[in-house]
Amino acid sequence: MRTGMTAPAPKPWIAAIAPYVPGRATADDGRRVVKLSSNENPLGTPDTAREAYRGAATELERYPDASAAELRAALAAHYGIEADRIVYGTGSDEVLHLAAGAFAGVGDEIIHVRYGFAVYDIATRRVGAVPVVAPDRDYATDVDAILARVTERTKVIFVANPNNPTGTYTSREDIARLHAALPRDVLLVIDQAYTEYLDPEDDDGALALARTEPNVLVTRTFSKIFGLAAERIGWGYASPAIIDAMHRIRAPFSFGIGAQRAAIAALDAHDFIAASRDHNRTWRGWFERQIAALSNHGLRAVPSKANFVMVLFEGALTAGAAYQALMAAGYATRWLPGQGLAHGLRITIGAEADMRAVAEILRTEAERAG
Ligand SMILES: *Cc1c(COP(=O)(O)O)cnc(C)c1O
Repeated sequence: MRTGMTAPAPKPWIAAIAPYVPGRATADDGRRVVKLSSNENPLGTPDTAREAYRGAATELERYPDASAAELRAALAAHYGIEADRIVYGTGSDEVLHLAAGAFAGVGDEIIHVRYGFAVYDIATRRVGAVPVVAPDRDYATDVDAILARVTERTKVIFVANPNNPTGTYTSREDIARLHAALPRDVLLVIDQAYTEYLDPEDDDGALALARTEPNVLVTRTFSKIFGLAAERIGWGYASPAIIDAMHRIRAPFSFGIGAQRAAIAALDAHDFIAASRDHNRTWRGWFERQIAALSNHGLRAVPSKANFVMVLFEGALTAGAAYQALMAAGYATRWLPGQGLAHGLRITIGAEADMRAVAEILRTEAERAG
């Protein structure tokens, strides 16, 4: 007879997971606030994507195409890649989980950077692998620190480029150098959730590497510049063998028909995407200058290539106090003490009026604190 446990016990590596904390949309009292905490697009969703989504309302009784053939064909045409080398998931979050699940297990190691995307730690622990944390270089990805941590047990490396929550960018040379120095049986995942926000000259070369190399996976999402976070659509591109392994363990129906139609339409929303990029570049630059003007109060912005800025508070005004002041004024930002960033706030680049208001509140609070 079995003895002992009185209830099912989660595996110890599952019990060790710190749950993902989503960006807030409400204050403690339930008031809705302006959400600058999840890097959503302040310009909304392309009209054409909204219409395509509505068009699916007559087909709600049907399962979607499990092979996402139309979406893969659209992605292939848009990016000049092979449709049969694309995997997709319920957000790129699922694609990241698939990468860990297909290539790592109990006792294996997965490397990510110290100030990295919170999902990497969860995806690693979920499969019983050990997260190995590579220190940063002034908040940016340090390729040499990653390489120094590669062991016989390393199976996967997660690098976001640009990185979240820091906004830092890893150059094409550094990505190539990282890949060149890795054993060929280590999967290098380049998470390009914010790649559409980059200036054209900033191609990090990862998609080209994924085309020719057997151990590179690039992940992308429709949640950020394409304005479709609600519909949970992400995808990845890699060698046929990597894609095959990931397909074996994905959910059979990753996202709905409306999501798929909306994503296809969003790919062609060139004006919307250009306007989103322009708005972001303009107001990110403006906001970074406002923070630079507060350097005598100990504020500084980590240089960002994404649609958010990590502001560091190294003077009398603390990040926690700034977070509270912004929340009280109706602005939710992302304070990440649990990720070793008790001294930083990640602030999404929102609408003009909101950026002006946030900058003004930070100036007032910094001056008050001394
Ligand atoms: C937002 C984000 C994603 C995308 O998440 P989805 O699941 O596609 O919404 C992936 N990686 C990073 C680094 C992100 O910031």
